[in-house]
Amino acid sequence: MPELPEVETTVRGLAPRVLGARICRVAVREPRLRWPIAPELADILAGAQVVNLGRRGKYLLLGCDRGTLIVHLGMSGSLRLVREEVAPTVHEHVDLILENGWVVRLRDPRRFGALLWAPEAPKSHPLLARLGPEPLEPGFNAQWLYRRTRGRKATIKQALMDGRLVAGLGNIYANEALFHAGIRPDTPAERLSRLRCARLVAAIKKTLRLAIRAGGSSLRDYVGSTGELGYFQLKLWVYDRAGMPCRACGTLIRVRRLGQRSSFYCPVCQR
Ligand code: ZN
Repeated sequence: MPELPEVETTVRGLAPRVLGARICRVAVREPRLRWPIAPELADILAGAQVVNLGRRGKYLLLGCDRGTLIVHLGMSGSLRLVREEVAPTVHEHVDLILENGWVVRLRDPRRFGALLWAPEAPKSHPLLARLGPEPLEPGFNAQWLYRRTRGRKATIKQALMDGRLVAGLGNIYANEALFHAGIRPDTPAERLSRLRCARLVAAIKKTLRLAIRAGGSSLRDYVGSTGELGYFQLKLWVYDRAGMPCRACGTLIRVRRLGQRSSFYCPVCQR
């Protein structure tokens, strides 16, 4: 599932061919994503120049001379760069065809992704307006986490998945960061001490940076007819490892449902 590092890697992979390029047309083969693609989107984007490529949380922002295309990759989405002559396959729903002969192609088998148009500044778009700080920026720090979790009865795992506390942290990296911080995912958020908040913030930043670095090493395969950005897999310590021995202490990893999502933890390393 694409999370912040995958989106960041996608931004970096697209930039060399997409930044500054002009979109000559848009082909929508399947508009039924999480929200239907607006019928007028193709007309709006025809002739637009890409002047900016960025990311906010898990949203990829394709800034054009006339507004911003907000791309969310949902559960299974990916963007790749192919040459125009490469025929799309069954789950490749949308093409942004660039004047330079490259195509930005959206593949999304489960169709939980979204393509939304924001004519104004994207940060005021309803999906982005209430997002909390970027986890890799200085605004996300121990003091912020401590303050924002006081009086919060929810578990720390659920709090981390709430984009208003921190933007773009999904299930995989929330589980991994909690392991590295030595904190059980079902700890009530309000019970975390200042010290443990500091540890958790450091673990989140480190986990995401490592994942982005792993993604960067996959970038050389990004472009070309087989230009799929396979979602690189960072070495995972707890996520999806229920019943397997902890890589640190050998105890079997446990799993618990917290707010509909599986939380994996080591009962010895995490307290
Ligand atoms: Zn352990």
